[in-house]
Amino acid sequence: MTQYVYRFGGGVSDGGNGNKNLLGGKGANLAEMASIGLPVPPGFTISTEMCTAYYDQGGQFPDSLRTEVANGIAHIEGVTGKTFGNPADPLLVSVRSGARISMPGMMDTVLNLGLNDQTVEGLAAVSGDERFAWDSYRRFIQMYSDVVLELDHGAFEEALEIAKEDKGVHLDTDLDAADWKALVARYKKIVEREWNKPFPQDVHDQLWGAIGAVFGSWQADRAKVYRRLNDIPHTWGTAVNVQAMVFGNMGDTSATGVAFTRDPSKGDRAYYGEFLINAQGEDVVAGIRTPQYLTKAARDAAGAKAASMEEAMPEVYGELARVFDLLENHYRDMQDIEFTVQQGKLWMLQTRSGKRTAKAALKIAVDMANEGLITEEEAVARVDPAALDQLLHPTLDPKAARDVLTKGLPASPGAASGIAVFDSDTAEKKAEAGEAVILIRVETSPEDIHGMHAAKGILTARGGMTSHAAVVARGMGRPCVSGAGALSIDAKAGVMKVAGREIRAGDIVTIDGATGEVMAGKVDTVQPELAGDFATLMGWADKVRRLKVRTNAETPLDCRTAREFGAEGIGLCRTEHMFFDAARITAVRQMILAEDVGGRKAALEKLLPEQRSDFAEIFEIMAGLPCTIRLLDPPLHEFLPHEEAEFAEVATAAGTTVEVLRRRAAELHEFNPMLGHRGCRLGVTYPEIYEMQARAIFEAAVEVAEKSGAAPIPEIMIPLVGTKRELELMKAVVDQAAKDVFAEKGREIEYLVGTMIELPRAALKAGEIAEAGAFFSFGTNDLTQTTLGVSRDDAARFLTTYVEKGIYAKDPFVSLDVEGVGELIALAAERGRKTRPDIKLGICGEHGGDPASIAFCETTGLDYVSASPYRVPIARLAAAQAALKARK
Ligand code: PEP
Ligand code: MG
Repeated sequence: MTQYVYRFGGGVSDGGNGNKNLLGGKGANLAEMASIGLPVPPGFTISTEMCTAYYDQGGQFPDSLRTEVANGIAHIEGVTGKTFGNPADPLLVSVRSGARISMPGMMDTVLNLGLNDQTVEGLAAVSGDERFAWDSYRRFIQMYSDVVLELDHGAFEEALEIAKEDKGVHLDTDLDAADWKALVARYKKIVEREWNKPFPQDVHDQLWGAIGAVFGSWQADRAKVYRRLNDIPHTWGTAVNVQAMVFGNMGDTSATGVAFTRDPSKGDRAYYGEFLINAQGEDVVAGIRTPQYLTKAARDAAGAKAASMEEAMPEVYGELARVFDLLENHYRDMQDIEFTVQQGKLWMLQTRSGKRTAKAALKIAVDMANEGLITEEEAVARVDPAALDQLLHPTLDPKAARDVLTKGLPASPGAASGIAVFDSDTAEKKAEAGEAVILIRVETSPEDIHGMHAAKGILTARGGMTSHAAVVARGMGRPCVSGAGALSIDAKAGVMKVAGREIRAGDIVTIDGATGEVMAGKVDTVQPELAGDFATLMGWADKVRRLKVRTNAETPLDCRTAREFGAEGIGLCRTEHMFFDAARITAVRQMILAEDVGGRKAALEKLLPEQRSDFAEIFEIMAGLPCTIRLLDPPLHEFLPHEEAEFAEVATAAGTTVEVLRRRAAELHEFNPMLGHRGCRLGVTYPEIYEMQARAIFEAAVEVAEKSGAAPIPEIMIPLVGTKRELELMKAVVDQAAKDVFAEKGREIEYLVGTMIELPRAALKAGEIAEAGAFFSFGTNDLTQTTLGVSRDDAARFLTTYVEKGIYAKDPFVSLDVEGVGELIALAAERGRKTRPDIKLGICGEHGGDPASIAFCETTGLDYVSASPYRVPIARLAAAQAALKARK
């Protein structure tokens, strides 16, 4: 029979330590902490296998689970000496979900389970604190009703407000035992009214209700959304953790807190956390009371009034600090920890690898390698390449004027400007319509995930650095300012008031997640700092990677940016982008609309010097590095004039009439331009175009070689080839231009002629095509489009549904369809190499900057990937990680 329940604590361990797949992250780490002797309240974990079985069996538990859970409860009773449901001295438990990785959006926690009308009296008697007992009971009813019974929590909050009003007090702490008792009676009435049944009094019913709710929450809509956004398989399932309660709300020697072993925002090596005296776990995260700092240093830095834990509870703090070091050494990573102090005794409730910003991830990885805790290669493997995006993007210009409205907590770095939006649905809609949005909420909850994802930045009035908004924003890489307490937000009215000013929905605001500043209007940004830890980690990555990384660039600015980011050449220079320049578009149009070769050549004459100077500039910047230049590719009609004035301008330049041009433009109309007269088909029909481009390239190359001494290595690339003959013809044109230029200039330059592989036919016939070309560059945008038969320009309408229904795991235009398109690439690489063992292989579609696709390029043995400038560092790191993985 399958074992579903695993016990931990009190010297017992049923195994599965560290097995996150089986026990979920929380359960695995609780078992592991218990097994290394840390103070963990006893408990048991129902494995993720049960979740899968539960859904396979249509929402039923097997009978064997009853016995196993009973044994689990008996274990906790044995260690604590308390009995579940015993009116004299009741055992109370917490019930928490725990998937392999932490997953907001699921049922999270029920505390104080096991309280009912009888046991509450027992708890009062044993603790000697009637107020505490009734407060715990009302918390339990409220939490259970919210997360298990799914009743609206507003009704409970309202009842609490009324109770305070009736008594004329403001704070929960002003309510006494009798008040809580009265409130419990009210809460029970609310449950009976809303749920049509009395609040469950049988503690076993309570327990099974909570267990069912955890498993049920795995399929809740918001959990599904979270999984989709984070590529978490639906088959993983969640575990359930049942654990003896410990109380942080048993007076002033009790406390509860959350901590990171290093700063999760900046990465500094300093304990970092918040705690609340006389409070229960969720109070810290929920942002209801403002927590106190853990260390004196942090308190001093913030200028906070309330004592730090280091000052208020020096002994327990000392013990906690020892546990932090022990855990960091044990897990060899920064830990995110939950703890409770019950009447002076420390209890560990959770540890896990802490979520961190990209900046912190970088610093922590580099520091830990320098400290000798991990190797350089492990440091390289630790940083998520996609997260580097956060570091590479602009931050606020320190010199720009700022109209600062207020300051909150710097919860997640990066700066963002956008229109103020006060609810998540609108945020999503506006973002879909292409607007930059700042989502502003009093506080966020898992229901806001979609709005947070759609927003450029997030601003909340309540909640600390560990609040939902802060944690989720950091995970998503969104800038976030949390706990800006001066804001008064009226979401319904769509207005926020601060410092006597009003910001209405639609007004532009700017937030700086690195400083916590909230500003009115838009603020200019500056480029990021690329030295320091970033450079160190990139250096380590470069040592291990095999794939070269080039860039897709055609402007001097892009080329310079890419070189700063470490590009080792150009993998794709799309020459048509140069044609759109205002100064030359008329000549381009004249060329396209020409009636014959003579007309075309006249126009090309005008373009030649322009192209030559473009290439010369690029060659200078790329000094001596290989530069793949693609000859003209897009359908000609993309350049056609639209306005009457544009036609007139071309008519004058070409010495013809608007009517003639209009007729010619109509002739150029195509039904399916993507499969029409484009790519090398242009060169085949109008060789003079490619001849001019090749000449411009060689003239520029010779010029730069003479001037700077660093001869560029042009790799001239023919697009959309499907047959060997096409490539042969085009190569002949290029070789002739080279011969002519070299003869005229009296100097030769090394160059290559190769092709893009963008058509399934080209992949299949790669063996033959390699006879004519020295390199292949996989144009996976077109290759995906032509292999899938899906238009890259029209796919958005249905691809989301395709991904949702699991037809493709990810958008195949973003992450390579390894199974289909990947097979063609592998086949083309193999056949190409057979003909020409030293053939150069690269990729220049968008996939060249996508980590998963880069991993595929590594295993297929390509020579390089090419990515847009800002993705060059991402590609370098991803290539290093792919190489490390391939070594294993
Ligand atoms: C490609 O098709 O992958 C490619 C790089 O070319 P373009 O995107 O310019 O069509
Ligand atoms: Mg293409």
